[in-house]
Amino acid sequence: MTGKTLLDIRGVHTFYGNIQALNGVDVTVNDGEIVALIGANGAGKSTLMMTIFGAPRARSGKIVFAGTDITQLPTHEIARLRIAQSPEGRRIFPRMTVLENLQMGASLDKMKHFDEDVEKVFVLFPRLKERIDQRGGTLSGGEQQMLSIGRALMARPKLLLLDEPSLGLAPLVVKQIFDAIRELNRTQGLTVFLVEQNAFGALKLATRGYVMVNGNVTMSGTGKQLLADPDVRAAYLEGG
Ligand code: ATP
Repeated sequence: MTGKTLLDIRGVHTFYGNIQALNGVDVTVNDGEIVALIGANGAGKSTLMMTIFGAPRARSGKIVFAGTDITQLPTHEIARLRIAQSPEGRRIFPRMTVLENLQMGASLDKMKHFDEDVEKVFVLFPRLKERIDQRGGTLSGGEQQMLSIGRALMARPKLLLLDEPSLGLAPLVVKQIFDAIRELNRTQGLTVFLVEQNAFGALKLATRGYVMVNGNVTMSGTGKQLLADPDVRAAYLEGG
């Protein structure tokens, strides 16, 4: 079941110098939901993810997480409130082993739960257990994505942000990743906000979705509603 508002983004404007990337974005993520943000290349999806972490910072508007205004907080303080991300491009540490990468995700106060948390990651992604001593850079793209999500989970997040988890992966691997996200949400009640160019997969997975065009949210609805919407179908689902 989904509950009260966990993340509330209101009227957010973000700029890179003079370039306006977000133009008054409103997005809400409720406890227990999987929310998908879809949109074309350059629409501003990654910028929104990064703005949540305060880099770049919103020039105006407000971002509230679990009742705390995080709009002006430094990134490390935002992370401490237990928002974790798997960023665009995964950003795993290529020279470190799988286990060391997972250690990097656990903050010092989480080290006492380390074995338990690592085991949970390995239950979700058994492939990572098989590769435990392998360096991150030698993993396949799908395994690197699993590691990136696993590392984020080590922070015991209340909210997991995923930037294009399916990018560049084969369909079977995309399914494994999406199944794992669904499983995390179903069994642990983890709230997930994901950005995707794979609109079909993301909207099938999501409780609710938003469509972003040129730095604005132009449409929102349940995953099912958006999948059935003729404009969404024409722009993002057909021939894609
Ligand atoms: P993609 O799927 O390609 O990552 P996106 O929807 O995530 O697309 P953003 O990466 O957020 O879009 O980009 C939004 C806009 O901001 C684009 O016009 C982009 O060119 C611009 N932009 C992004 N990063 C920067 C930057 N570091 N400096 C200047 N402009 C940027």
